[in-house]
Amino acid sequence: MLSLGIRWGREAGTERNCYHAAFGLAVREGQLADQGAKAVILRMAVPVPLRRLFDYLPPEGLAPSDLIPGQRLWVPFANRKLVAVLVDIVSDSPLEQLKPAVELIDRQPLFDGPSRDFLHWAADYYQAPVGEIYAAALPVALRKGKPADHWAEQWLQLTVEGKGLPESALARAPRQQALLQLLLRRGAQSRTQLKAQGHTTATIRALEERGLAECSIGPTVPPPISSAESSPAPELNPEQQQVLEAIPTDRFTVSLLEGTTGSGKTEVYLRLMERVLAEGRQALLLVPEIGLTPQTLRRIAARFPDRSIAALHSGLAEGERAQAWLSAAAGQADIVIGTRSAVLTPLPRLGAVIVDEEHDGSFKQQDGVRYSARDLAVVLGRNAGAPVLLGSATPSLESLHNALTGRYQHLRLRNRAGNARPPQIHIVPTLGQPLEEGFTPQVLRHIGDTLSRGEQVLVFINRRGFAPALACDDCGWLADCPHCSSKLTMHRRIRQLRCHHCDYRRALVDSCPQCHSRSLSALGGGTERSEELLGQRFADYPVIRVDRDTTASKQALDRLLAPAREGEPCLLLGTQMLAKGHHLPRVTLVVIQDADGGLFSADFRAPERTGQLLEQVAGRAGRGDLPGRVLVQSRYPQHPLLQLLLEKGYGAFARQLLRDRAVAQLPPHRAMALVRAECEEPRWAEEFLEAARAQMQALAPPSPQLSYLGPVPALLERKSGRFRFYVQVTAERRGQLQPLLARLCQWAEGYKNRRLRWAVDMDAQELS
Ligand code: ADP
Ligand code: ZN
Ligand code: ZN
Repeated sequence: MLSLGIRWGREAGTERNCYHAAFGLAVREGQLADQGAKAVILRMAVPVPLRRLFDYLPPEGLAPSDLIPGQRLWVPFANRKLVAVLVDIVSDSPLEQLKPAVELIDRQPLFDGPSRDFLHWAADYYQAPVGEIYAAALPVALRKGKPADHWAEQWLQLTVEGKGLPESALARAPRQQALLQLLLRRGAQSRTQLKAQGHTTATIRALEERGLAECSIGPTVPPPISSAESSPAPELNPEQQQVLEAIPTDRFTVSLLEGTTGSGKTEVYLRLMERVLAEGRQALLLVPEIGLTPQTLRRIAARFPDRSIAALHSGLAEGERAQAWLSAAAGQADIVIGTRSAVLTPLPRLGAVIVDEEHDGSFKQQDGVRYSARDLAVVLGRNAGAPVLLGSATPSLESLHNALTGRYQHLRLRNRAGNARPPQIHIVPTLGQPLEEGFTPQVLRHIGDTLSRGEQVLVFINRRGFAPALACDDCGWLADCPHCSSKLTMHRRIRQLRCHHCDYRRALVDSCPQCHSRSLSALGGGTERSEELLGQRFADYPVIRVDRDTTASKQALDRLLAPAREGEPCLLLGTQMLAKGHHLPRVTLVVIQDADGGLFSADFRAPERTGQLLEQVAGRAGRGDLPGRVLVQSRYPQHPLLQLLLEKGYGAFARQLLRDRAVAQLPPHRAMALVRAECEEPRWAEEFLEAARAQMQALAPPSPQLSYLGPVPALLERKSGRFRFYVQVTAERRGQLQPLLARLCQWAEGYKNRRLRWAVDMDAQELS
């Protein structure tokens, strides 16, 4: 941190020039040492869908020496004013008649050199407009141009003289000595932190007057995450110990930690963080959308009660998020926990990147810049010379492939930590059984027995709502979405039919719109339907439904699960929201209502996802001292993949899928990109993609190393009124795809059809 010698007590913000001293990036790079007579031209990343940078003149009246790459500026763009990021300062532009930028927003840069390099790498790799990558990296408040010093406050740190003192130097002034000790051990502290620890303004002034400490302005520390109490670390078991020792902290490595649920992976993450923090570096923990629960945050906060933790997720207010982001980017936050976009945050002291549940689909952005946070985490670690740890009970085939071929270090935890034993899994055939709202009598009996023993039951149902379709018994009419090629889901309690793809809603009908018959049937099951049945049958126990309709926020989910955490017998029922992250030691029975859905999908990744989900759900059983049991209902109990999964576990299942993918020449054995297009007029989308394919083939004709498919309709052919198609390109090596896609983008940016939307999806995860 630069020292600026501001006196303690003065209002933050009055020292604008000093703001962000804590960013410490200032004079390091990019600043023009010799402006001479040369022109000063700002090369900017502007948030528009064009794959290039834009040149501007400096804002009027601004000294060129105030400009540093990484700062934000307001710039004029096609009659609008946009927030752009300064990428480079050059003296020549191919363009004439440059416009001046309007105004400088940041005194000190928000993005340091390494973080800019990283973002440019990502833009190249994903063929994304670089301005959009910068926008994706910024929290909304900063994206809108809010000045960063809105979240600034005073920081106290030792002077050179102060740093040279022994801890006992001020023994005659115990308060000053305590403060000195704190600063010696922990480095700079913010005003809020000092106050929270009981240090008074008088003590601070005293140290300043002795010339031992001084103040500067830096980002506000995010408010601490409340944790009930600090919890000490359990002693690692030998397996965990081995895993931890295999991860070096002084260089870049990638490790895949494959460990069943409850095997103590999180404990390993915490220990790795501990080591990295002790070396004075930052740790980044990426978690899936669903995984960032208050419970997870509390666990980490409880382990590191006196560390600064920044949480970056969608549940935060704009200001909170900006504050957390700034403290991460300033290097002030020790631990940064976040969902997907956190990987784009500048982290100047990065010492380790951990990706929890690395297989989770939410790490891949499905619109705009279609990056994979998991894959970028690896690049981030490489750039920082830091270890990357990918953890999962059910690794993605991509990561498993990398581990099995030796590209990643393969670490395993085979046993559950503590006393918990792996659950017993049984298949329950449903064909020919008298089902009651989708459950066999045997399953209902087991649920009853478990509850009456005072234990908890978790029922997993892959669909929310009452039923996935409503049909007329007399004429066969089906309630379709008028905008998508899909059925409307029936929600009985709120009396609506809803599309889960475009959110179209209409009132529930009592009679068939086609033949006016009053005999309508709800087809298939959903969480709401099961809740009704199970609520009636097990009326003595609370039935807790957890799905997107009952949990508007993370806090709501936390509240909903509170009775379950108390340990009372209850029945939890829900979608995949229940599959992850929750440690519910009293759940001894898990019921999977229907295992078949994903086994017959046209998406080649569907079996992988189904296997992951089933294994994760099953892993909720028996996490405490009581043994767990899992009942899996299926129409096809003999299905070889299902048998493999349930008998040998996900590991064997995934290895079999990898062999199948090799035969079919599919990822991860090949690299795959999709060029997507959608339009209200299906012909236009197809025409565009035909031409797109021709563009790519002109550069690289089909060969054994490179193949093209399409245009073909997406699995969900029509969504929100637009018809959707794609061209699929697969190649032996990723490097073969890049030049093709670059050419394609260049061509497509000039394509004249404003009604058409197109996108490049590198390493596409969804064919839908
Ligand atoms: P995972 O992340 O693999 O699901 P966790 O790290 O959450 O596993 O561990 C599961 C449970 O076991 C937690 O309650 C955790 O506190 C406990 N646990 C983990 N490691 C140990 C250990 N070495 N000794 C005792 N308990 C442990
Ligand atoms: Zn009808
Ligand atoms: Zn729809």
